[in-house]
Amino acid sequence: MCARCGARAQEPPPVTWTCSVENGVRRYFCEACARENLRAIEGRLDSEWW
Ligand SMILES: [Zn+2]
Repeated sequence: MCARCGARAQEPPPVTWTCSVENGVRRYFCEACARENLRAIEGRLDSEWW
């Protein structure tokens, strides 16, 4: 499930989804959210800051 918009995906998530590890917890983001927040993800900012 997308950690930002709540979109659901099958397990395992599609390759288009982005996995971000925050505080040791894996979070998945759908393609749209990942693209939108690519900069934040690359900057290793926790999603709480988005
Ligand atoms: Zn999403």
